[in-house]
Amino acid sequence: NAKKSATGSFCFFSDELRRELDYRKMLERDMRSAIADRSFEVYFQPQVSLLNGSVAGIEALVRWPHPERGMISPGEFIPIAEKTGLMAEIGKIVMDKAIGAAAEWHHNGIQFGRLAVNASGTELREADFAKFLFGTLEKHGLPPQKLSLEIVESVILDDEKTGIAGKLRLIRAAGVHLELDDFGTGYASLSHVNPNEIDRLKIDRRFVQKINTNDDNSAIVKAITELARGLGISIIAEGAETEEELSSLLKIGCEQVQGYSIAFPMPVDQARSWLAQRSPKKPVIRLAASN
Ligand code: C2E
Ligand code: MG
Ligand code: MG
Ligand code: MG
Repeated sequence: NAKKSATGSFCFFSDELRRELDYRKMLERDMRSAIADRSFEVYFQPQVSLLNGSVAGIEALVRWPHPERGMISPGEFIPIAEKTGLMAEIGKIVMDKAIGAAAEWHHNGIQFGRLAVNASGTELREADFAKFLFGTLEKHGLPPQKLSLEIVESVILDDEKTGIAGKLRLIRAAGVHLELDDFGTGYASLSHVNPNEIDRLKIDRRFVQKINTNDDNSAIVKAITELARGLGISIIAEGAETEEELSSLLKIGCEQVQGYSIAFPMPVDQARSWLAQRSPKKPVIRLAASN
């Protein structure tokens, strides 16, 4: 059932494609009501230092609890959200909920290092992105220094036209940290890895996985780690799944890690207890010995 399209090329309007299009339509419709209900949830995945076990940060990861289809992962719905112009709204819900949670931890002495929130190009291009961000920090009372934005390399590449660079400078000047996510997979040249603009590189998990047995991965992680150290930029490896990967990372000197070997992304209550358990206990006050 090939049909001639307007441009003269043939396309196959198969049952499978029809089902796929129907599915996308359905997701888009349900996404609009999930935005209205603010039913997107934020999960949190800790980032730790391998040197002393301290919590370096915690990443906010959006989840969509769909009434009929269960939890839908961002890999599935974010591309649709981006295409349909709904991502900016979803991003605001995530930002508000994630900062709200971190502010509660902050005010109750639960140490989390820094909250890391992902921001996509479409979100950053919104005219009110910085204003919304600052407003949300202020509303919840979280110091900007406790927040970090994870952006992918491609975002800083098209900054000239979109004014994203200026916006990021403003945000960073306020104390918010910036980091390059999925580092090594994009197109950023080394000139974009500037310690005056970037605080941390996050090595993509494809280089981290099997690092203990894959010499190519090991060489890449070593090179990125040395680059970061030379420039005075922090470094973190994402997606470390095994003890063996952790010890290879430690050997290389990549000190911070995030991955299933440390903790899975967790709902907010579970993340809070995970952090609370690790927070240094308040010093026990002892009565002076009387003898
Ligand atoms: P990302 O920012 O690179 O986040 C890391 C992803 O790796 C997360 O997938 C996390 O669950 C997964 N991960 C963590 N440790 C491991 C591990 O040891 N092994 C494996 N195999 N995976 C691990 P998730 O949560 O499905 O998110 C996928 C992507 O969706 C994120 O990649 C990010 O690009 C995007 N994303 C997630 N939440 C948000 C959000 O709130 N806003 C925006 N703009 N993007 C988001
Ligand atoms: Mg990320
Ligand atoms: Mg990443
Ligand atoms: Mg990644």
